[in-house]
Amino acid sequence: MIAVLGPDCSLQQKAEIVRLVEGHGLRVQVSETGDASLVAVIGGGGEGIIDRLRSHPAVLELRTDAPPYTLVAREQRPEGSRIRFDGFSVGGEEIVVIAGPCAVESRDGILSAARAVAGGGARMLRGGAFKPRTSPYSFQGLGVEGLELLAEARDATGLKVVTEVVTPGEASIVAEHADVLQVGSRNMQNFRLLSAVGEQPRPVLLKRGLMATIEELLLAAEYVVTAGNPRVMLCERGIRTYETSTRNTLDIAAVPVLKERTHLPVIVDPSHAAGRRELVASLSRAAVAAGADGLIVEVHPRPDEALSDGRQSLDPAGFEELMDELRRTAAAVGRHVAPGEPVESRSEAPADRV
Ligand code: PEP
Ligand code: MN
Repeated sequence: MIAVLGPDCSLQQKAEIVRLVEGHGLRVQVSETGDASLVAVIGGGGEGIIDRLRSHPAVLELRTDAPPYTLVAREQRPEGSRIRFDGFSVGGEEIVVIAGPCAVESRDGILSAARAVAGGGARMLRGGAFKPRTSPYSFQGLGVEGLELLAEARDATGLKVVTEVVTPGEASIVAEHADVLQVGSRNMQNFRLLSAVGEQPRPVLLKRGLMATIEELLLAAEYVVTAGNPRVMLCERGIRTYETSTRNTLDIAAVPVLKERTHLPVIVDPSHAAGRRELVASLSRAAVAAGADGLIVEVHPRPDEALSDGRQSLDPAGFEELMDELRRTAAAVGRHVAPGEPVESRSEAPADRV
């Protein structure tokens, strides 16, 4: 529920309204949008508080049909939120590309992937150290050693590091090494995990669950924000449908729908949606055209040897091509992608020889 206060509401009246709401055991968040102040009542509210607010002279309007996700609702920040990193931000004009292997497998592999994607114009390096795998017999990731290798790759390239947190207890160790904490699809409704990453001083990349509605995704984001962390990016990565020709069905409409409903930036993962590398460029172009703020793409120095998701991973040359195509698509919708480094000025050996 949101109470809209008019431009002539005094500070004293604002404080009175906050006290009134808190007196009913509810939390409030006040935000200023142009002429009006919006008082978001977090956690709903019964008839008692509704009547008191409705009859308060400073309340212009009471929106009781506001969505259940209060803090992430578009209304809170109609201009959209930006997540700032040094040198770039997510949610602005730039389409930010996050790229790297599904999992960190070795020191050479991750350094090689990092150099390749940095050269192509990626801003952030992805790579799982703690991997949530469908089968207990599959590669589970290198754990803390993987985090250390990611940090080394960041030092070597300047890329920010995005990596998954699988359990609440690991949130702080991952936050010590990574720049962005990823919550994977299988954990989108692990509410203790959402609160744990919400307590860390790092932005969160929250992936949509395999079977989650957009409202469920937004409520999951609300968990992170209510735990104290407003820096959340949402990720559409395909949902499970009856269709079997792709690994998941990319819900491209989720991009404009999310843009309508929330101020949080929206990232698209074409790799897990497609399941095969041939489709990654088309889905990426569609995502940019639909208004996504960024992409997270799997890139491996030698996809055929990858320990996970090789079939959907681009090789370094494929990534270069993708970035060239994205530069054109981004320009067509008034946005841009970071420039890559000219091949001749790249300091290290080409990725496919490392
Ligand atoms: C991943 O990013 O490697 C991953 C496991 O993704 P998702 O949670 O979307 O399946
Ligand atoms: Mn993967």
